[in-house]
Amino acid sequence: MATHWSLPPTDALRADGLRIADLDTSGTPGFKGGKKQASGYQAERAQVLSGLQEKLYANGRSGDYRNILLVLQGMDTAGKGGIVRHVIGSVDPQGVDHASFGVPTEEEKQHHFLWRIRKALPRGGQIGVFDRSHYEDVLVVRVHNLVPAKVWEPRYDEINAFEQELVGQGTTLVKVAMFISLDEQKRRLMERLERPDKYWKFNPADIDERGYWPAYQEAYQVMLDRTSTEKAPWHVIPADRKWFARLSVTELLIDALEKLNLDWPPPDFDIEEQKRRLEQA
Ligand code: ADP
Repeated sequence: MATHWSLPPTDALRADGLRIADLDTSGTPGFKGGKKQASGYQAERAQVLSGLQEKLYANGRSGDYRNILLVLQGMDTAGKGGIVRHVIGSVDPQGVDHASFGVPTEEEKQHHFLWRIRKALPRGGQIGVFDRSHYEDVLVVRVHNLVPAKVWEPRYDEINAFEQELVGQGTTLVKVAMFISLDEQKRRLMERLERPDKYWKFNPADIDERGYWPAYQEAYQVMLDRTSTEKAPWHVIPADRKWFARLSVTELLIDALEKLNLDWPPPDFDIEEQKRRLEQA
């Protein structure tokens, strides 16, 4: 890390005090190189991530309840899917619990907003990935007044309490908010209309959502201000450059895993005895 970053990514991308309106979405905070330097480095770091994830998984198999929960938030086309494919895609799928959250079903609507979230929490030893999350309940819900303010307003505190509970149970939250510019979003949406391999990703409603951009910016700002806590901080990723977003999330996951100080689990059998048995088998 030392050679490529002028600041540890966890610091360079920390949300504290950040104003989204001032964010340069094409920036690469803390990273010393450009796309060229990043590509070989990304592959190297993906290997590191994969090794750490295997250790986490091995410990989970041996009864360790700790896990990681990557929470991905961002406007349509911000690149959440790319993070799942390219960053999470570099680790063993056995150790990944992926969940995405769309418009709540009729059944989900009859429950507290955290009901469906709790059901999707990762087991010990897993990297959980939330593609959208409980934060939609203070983002899209707030922007479109899907429930009255007196219902969504207390949710910030509820979310903080919920996340503290998760931390207390051994979960490390890696919360990532990805931001692109309005122009970059237009470019990405246009690409979805020009490439047959991308038509399936296009949703006409995404164009309508662009009209709500300022309201979303505000809702994201309040989300960062009110739910970036010491134990579950937000990280803000300028995401116009996909390579930077992917490298950043890779680094944040590596950091979270390194802080678990994982070792390979010790054997629960006598090695010499098993060697002798194997010799004779
Ligand atoms: P994507 O558009 O990311 O491919 P989906 O089509 O499955 O995924 O659904 C995402 C949509 O669901 C988004 O428009 C998002 O705002 C909406 N959504 C997610 N959670 C909620 C929620 N709690 N209430 C209302 N809408 C939600």
